[in-house]
Amino acid sequence: MLRSIQSKLIFVYLLLILVAFQLSGLYLLKNLERAYVRQVEDDLSQRAQLLIGQLSGYSVGGKLDAQGVNQFMASWPVGNAIVLDANGTVIGATPRQQEHAALLGKKFSNDDVSPALVGAPKTTSRGEENGEPMTYLAVPLISLNRVIGVVYLKGSLKEAYDRLKNIRDMLMTAAAIALGATAMLSVMLARTITGPVREVTRKAGEMAGGNFNQTIEVRSSDEVGQLGEMFNRMTSRLKQTLEEIQGEKNKAEAILSHMADGLLAFGATGQIIIVNPAAERILGIIEADVLGQLPQHVWPEMKLDTALAKAREEGRSLTQEIHFGPQVLLAHVTPLQGERSQPAGTVVVLHDITEMEKLERMRRDFVANVSHELKTPLTTVKSYVETLLDGAAEEPEVRARFLRVVEAETDRMARLVKDLLHLSQLDQGSINWDIQPYEVPALMEECVAKLAVPAGRKNLSIRRVYAPGVSQALFDRDKLHQVILNLLANAIEFTPVKGEITVDVRNDGAMVKVTVKDSGIGIPKEDLPRIFERFYRVDKARSRMLGGTGLGLAIARQIVELLGGAISIDSELGKGTEVVFTIPAALAAESEVS
Ligand code: ADP
Repeated sequence: MLRSIQSKLIFVYLLLILVAFQLSGLYLLKNLERAYVRQVEDDLSQRAQLLIGQLSGYSVGGKLDAQGVNQFMASWPVGNAIVLDANGTVIGATPRQQEHAALLGKKFSNDDVSPALVGAPKTTSRGEENGEPMTYLAVPLISLNRVIGVVYLKGSLKEAYDRLKNIRDMLMTAAAIALGATAMLSVMLARTITGPVREVTRKAGEMAGGNFNQTIEVRSSDEVGQLGEMFNRMTSRLKQTLEEIQGEKNKAEAILSHMADGLLAFGATGQIIIVNPAAERILGIIEADVLGQLPQHVWPEMKLDTALAKAREEGRSLTQEIHFGPQVLLAHVTPLQGERSQPAGTVVVLHDITEMEKLERMRRDFVANVSHELKTPLTTVKSYVETLLDGAAEEPEVRARFLRVVEAETDRMARLVKDLLHLSQLDQGSINWDIQPYEVPALMEECVAKLAVPAGRKNLSIRRVYAPGVSQALFDRDKLHQVILNLLANAIEFTPVKGEITVDVRNDGAMVKVTVKDSGIGIPKEDLPRIFERFYRVDKARSRMLGGTGLGLAIARQIVELLGGAISIDSELGKGTEVVFTIPAALAAESEVS
């Protein structure tokens, strides 16, 4: 019922006032009652003494003169009194004591009178008559040490009790007024205390809901004011701390989301708790889908759980290479320690080394290829030169044949070295490009003319299709010349006698598209994805025999891509091959300028 401080305070104040009034009122009324009653009793006593003094004159021979006493008492003006003789017979009564007058001459006895008749100096008692409170007094009349009679008086206490009742009523009215005033004052007082407390409670509630912009107006310097001040200090400190935490969190999140390496964090029981965007990309998942799961359930093939357990057991970081589909990942597993060196979780940083691995493999293959490509002609040259030195040079015919072989092999080596140098320059970007808008068909015609002899030797027809209005394209003349020559030379080389070669130049959006198609031997489907790799050849022996270096398509792709275009190849074994490349078309304005 008394839930709020306000109601408790009001209740306590009212209770205090009530108790104070009750106690003081009780004390006051008791004392007043005692004083009023004593006053009536004293009065009765004085009258008794006065009466006794007067009645002593009616003592005759040790007895009271009944006649005289009766007469005297009939004229006694003050109060109610009767006089008994030594036998307890009523011999006189005051006029106000009518009923006692009727008792005249009769025996009178009660608890007050009996002790007086035997000499008890004073007997008092209380009683009630017709609902009126009374006090009684019996005093013996003594003459020559003998009780000769008793004076019996009674006095009313009504007046005294009426006054007491008035005072009690006044006190109760005062108490009621005091209670009312106290109730009002305590409501106001309680409000001054509970108002700020309520405000603090309300603002603390707002803070619990996440709104930390809470301040309290401090209106006093008392405890309530101090509470407000402390609350304000607490909120500003809390806000500052939260801002600091948020700042740190933002920094950590920015690092996590922008780092190139994948990061996975696992809780103490091995469940996934963080997956950064790089890890999402590397592993092809979404963080929300795997949170709370165990790595062995999400990526059973990665065997991450074993690595995590090992790092936790050994209490130190470890690095492990993981093959995840086509990707090669380097996983740095670091166990985290919580309070009291308890394992708190594990962090795994995933470094995608697929590209690095691929490059490394390519570098190894490249060195092996170059060595191999050079070794064959060098061995041939060496053996022929040795044979010549051993005497074969003596025979002019043999000498000429051997020297021609040596020449062909050195030519091939020179070509190989030239192509390699060219590729390396393209890789390093150390070539100065002279990019201008040119007509592709004109360049195509030039290349076809250049290869007319080998094509004619094989009786190949070269069909040229130039779409009307084909744009000029932006390229370096020498470089594109080489691309087209490489493609045409391949088409001629790998197309049997009487075959057909078609070249096609047309616009393709903002690009110029060039197609070189032949009806040659074609390339098996499985070789197509690797055909642009350096030294990749379908039939190594045949290509070498034909004088190829295995670098022609690689150089063509490098040049086309550096010009901002793309190259692709499609082929069907036994039917023919089609190589398509695009290069940016020159804008009309640019071509006019040139
Ligand atoms: P190469 O100097 O050996 O011609 P390329 O890089 O130009 O080197 O070509 C690589 C390989 O691709 C060739 O050895 C050949 O096996 C295959 N190739 C290229 N063009 C054609 C084509 N038009 N028809 C069939 N095979 C081709």
